[in-house]
Amino acid sequence: MTNIAIIVVVYLIIISITAIILTVRDKKAAQSKSRRISEKSLLFVSAIGGSAAMLATMRAIRHKTQHKRFMIGIPAIIILQIAIAVIIFIHPFFLMNPTETGSIPETNVFAVKDGMNSVYLVESESGYILFDAGTNAKNIESVLSENDINADDVRQIFLTHSDSDHAGALSLFPNAEIYINEDEIPLIDGTVKRNLFGGNNISVDIDDIIRVHDGQTLSIDGIEILCIAAPGHTIGSMSYLVGGRYLFTGDAFTYRNGKLGIHPFTMDKPQSRETIEMLIGIVQNSEIIVFTSHYGYFTREDLR
Ligand SMILES: [Zn+2]
Repeated sequence: MTNIAIIVVVYLIIISITAIILTVRDKKAAQSKSRRISEKSLLFVSAIGGSAAMLATMRAIRHKTQHKRFMIGIPAIIILQIAIAVIIFIHPFFLMNPTETGSIPETNVFAVKDGMNSVYLVESESGYILFDAGTNAKNIESVLSENDINADDVRQIFLTHSDSDHAGALSLFPNAEIYINEDEIPLIDGTVKRNLFGGNNISVDIDDIIRVHDGQTLSIDGIEILCIAAPGHTIGSMSYLVGGRYLFTGDAFTYRNGKLGIHPFTMDKPQSRETIEMLIGIVQNSEIIVFTSHYGYFTREDLR
């Protein structure tokens, strides 16, 4: 859990306990005809996060249950709070701008848009090399067949990292060897947690994944692939430089209006900043085309 998430949870626990105590005290005060807690104070505590606990307590001890101000007001506050939480959580997705399906001009890269992300195919002599496997196997399969590409012809898959929107559709490619940074393995076997619920689940046997490391070069049908460790977003995020010209970066950064930024759901932001600097250094003074998973593609000339 990130520090911010811990602070939010602790805050919600404290404010919820406060809401319960105030509600119980007010009920007791009403029974003993002593000084009450003002309605304003109760609604204020509800509005700053105690709403659910207060409503549950009022129902449980039958306090204020005849007051519309509370019985309608607090549920309205709860709905508003849920809406705000959803907007905060969902808004990164509105800012995403994945590459549309089709051939990328003047390259031999073919993009497949899958919801909010894109995966990229590079044609080789024996089939296709795929960079990230996307999320929705059914969707990717239908986009591929519309473009006369057979998923069985994908021979290699290079994963930039193990998040489910990048490794979710692996099962669609039974003939592919799967490559990933060795440093990402602890996230897959659950040694390192990705979120509250644990590591990243991958649909293939962990022993069947080929592990690569920083600086390693592979040659596939004469196509050279350089593995560049790009940690930060996840511990073992990896970028791949293909033929010295195409750089597949996954979620190493966001790209908007010529600027690179920290990707949502990044594990280590300072490390991610270092990675971004390192990758900018590679792209500067080069003819490299950078392909991101959620923000399209660009060259150094697009950077500001
Ligand atoms: Zn992603």
